[in-house]
Amino acid sequence: MTTLARSRPCPCTSKKTYGDCCAPFHKGERAVPDAPSLVRARYAAFALGELEFLYSTLHTNHADRVKHSRDHVLAAFRGASSQFKYMGLKLTDSRPADAQGTSQVLYLARIFRKGENVSFVELGDFREEDGAMRYLSGRIADASREDRSELTIDGFIADARG
Ligand SMILES: [Zn+2]
Repeated sequence: MTTLARSRPCPCTSKKTYGDCCAPFHKGERAVPDAPSLVRARYAAFALGELEFLYSTLHTNHADRVKHSRDHVLAAFRGASSQFKYMGLKLTDSRPADAQGTSQVLYLARIFRKGENVSFVELGDFREEDGAMRYLSGRIADASREDRSELTIDGFIADARG
């Protein structure tokens, strides 16, 4: 795990300092209040290797928690954290909670693996649990070859239908 000074730029590329952005969530000083904040905090957590935060913000109904042991999931997070370079995050669209309490965020994660662009867009579903927002599930589409930074949720769903 990298300890990042709170005066440094936050790895979620919000242009705020880490201390004013994702650090209070990573350190357990504040519960994550909403889905966009959680997208940012999880991206920064991958960049910094905040593995416990990544696990604790998975909803208990997330497929990884349902199917796999905690150690297995943490090992997968460790691999993703160490093998990828986290170059930037852009939230492109969002929807407030529906009747079931699920809110959605569409985001572009700029990520490289050994110099190869493996960026993706993800439509994430989020739901509150124990007073904090958690990551329930996500659908991913490749974003390595074209600019998807203006994509909307409607556009993402239309693309997925092909
Ligand atoms: Zn941040």
